[in-house]
Amino acid sequence: MEIDNIECVSSSDGVEDEEIQSSVSSHNPSVMHHHPHAPHLHQYASSKPHSNIVPSGIAPTSVHELLECPVCTNSMYPPIHQCHNGHTLCSTCKTRVHNRCPTCRQELGDIRCLALEKVAESLELPCKYYSLGCPEIFPYYSKLKHEALCNFRPYNCPYAGSECSVTGDIPYLVAHLRDDHKVDMHTGCTFNHRYVKSNPREVENATWMLTVFHCFGQYFCLHFEAFQLGMAPVYMAFLRFMGDENEARNYSYSLEVGANGRKLIWEGTPRSIRDSHRKVRDSHDGLIIQRNMALFFSGGDRKELKLRVTGRIWKEQQNPDAGVCIPNLCS
Ligand SMILES: [Zn+2]
Ligand SMILES: [Zn+2]
Ligand SMILES: [Zn+2]
Ligand SMILES: [Zn+2]
Repeated sequence: MEIDNIECVSSSDGVEDEEIQSSVSSHNPSVMHHHPHAPHLHQYASSKPHSNIVPSGIAPTSVHELLECPVCTNSMYPPIHQCHNGHTLCSTCKTRVHNRCPTCRQELGDIRCLALEKVAESLELPCKYYSLGCPEIFPYYSKLKHEALCNFRPYNCPYAGSECSVTGDIPYLVAHLRDDHKVDMHTGCTFNHRYVKSNPREVENATWMLTVFHCFGQYFCLHFEAFQLGMAPVYMAFLRFMGDENEARNYSYSLEVGANGRKLIWEGTPRSIRDSHRKVRDSHDGLIIQRNMALFFSGGDRKELKLRVTGRIWKEQQNPDAGVCIPNLCS
């Protein structure tokens, strides 16, 4: 199944099958990123750790493979270490192996592998999201910096209620939300949602609800949740855009909740899912409803939460807030 996912996503990004095949390491089928042009494809399927052990005696076939830590398989950056027998190791792994070379089990010592560091310096490599469409090429040592911000880097799963480690591009995550998290999908730019909770006193067990909206050819995540804000239990609803920040600014949304002649209205710009769900929540960038008001809006005997949230998403011609850093929202 893991393999299926990888191939499916890769082929949609124009990577030829041949290339994928050649990247499959013969001694360990779960390590698929040995090819310099198709690294880290396994991120799509899951974050399942792959085997840590590369059998010794398999000769690396390229400089890129030499620069791959044999323990964690990440690219190595200075200081690169080696044991007395010449086995290399990244600095992160070095701190974890208790002074034993993981390859030959000999004492590790404190030997830098300067030659390999120099070789790395002379290299230029494609961004590791090459297979996802990034055309950029970087000197080895500045590649990491770019990759942390690369527009082609995969997104994290926007589902909030669990620690989900799935990453991927937007179409992949939409399918993942629908199939794996059983998230409700809606088409259209207006909505009318009822949130019902039979025991609204239990705010401590924070509840998350997510609905995905598809409009303007884009996907939006509507989050609704209960949490403690200081001492006060509150409910909060906000929208996140499934895409990058600069594109999110092209949209606006409004949320409305009310009853009995009272109404709360929120109007805002959706945040990108690059910003974690928690970050958006903690910046209070959404419709916040105090519990007393929420129970009042619910009507009845205040024993049950019954909130009707209506909303709308629209496209801005030129969002005046574009590029403006709002205090408390930027960090
Ligand atoms: Zn390592
Ligand atoms: Zn060794
Ligand atoms: Zn890139
Ligand atoms: Zn997920």
